[in-house]
Amino acid sequence: MMTKGLFGGETIRKRLDLVIQKPMNGHVEDIQGKRFGMLTVRKYYGSKQKGGAYWICDCDCGKEIITSAHSLKDGNTSSCGCKHIKQSSELCKTRNKIHGYSKEPLYFVWKTMRQRCYNPRQHDYKWYGAKGVKIAEVWNDYTVFRKWSLENGYAHGLTIDRIDGNKDYSPDNCRWITIQEQQKNKSNVKKTA
Ligand SMILES: [Zn+2]
Repeated sequence: MMTKGLFGGETIRKRLDLVIQKPMNGHVEDIQGKRFGMLTVRKYYGSKQKGGAYWICDCDCGKEIITSAHSLKDGNTSSCGCKHIKQSSELCKTRNKIHGYSKEPLYFVWKTMRQRCYNPRQHDYKWYGAKGVKIAEVWNDYTVFRKWSLENGYAHGLTIDRIDGNKDYSPDNCRWITIQEQQKNKSNVKKTA
């Protein structure tokens, strides 16, 4: 029976216990000197019982790793692990940025707009989501909505208004107006209706 440690949370070192340091033979494809992502293959390390060659690689960041030719070729391993760390820290930065925005009043406007359209438990949903009013897909991303707002007359205290009340919330069909203006528009609609 296989021990649990060989899968899941295995470390490279544990996996390498399976590698017999036998000399390179004709069955092993020579990939010395080749590049895979940030890795340059430096030296043959050994092979498993049934094929599966392992190579010592130099990462662009300066670290050394031993990995299988297979995982290099199918793109599973393209750095010593530093690439992943870098990507997650980039991801963190983006998340933090959005998180930072989440305290501004405009974010609240965006959030309540989404609730009106997509949350049946929201008080105003009956006037919006229930009537089929949607939000343009590009505005699923708050940063896109934010950029559009700042470039199109948003100021604190203004409300987002659909120019054509039969159409969705979208960059083409929206404007920023005062609540008084919006109420005036609504009562005009009522009068003409
Ligand atoms: Zn690295």
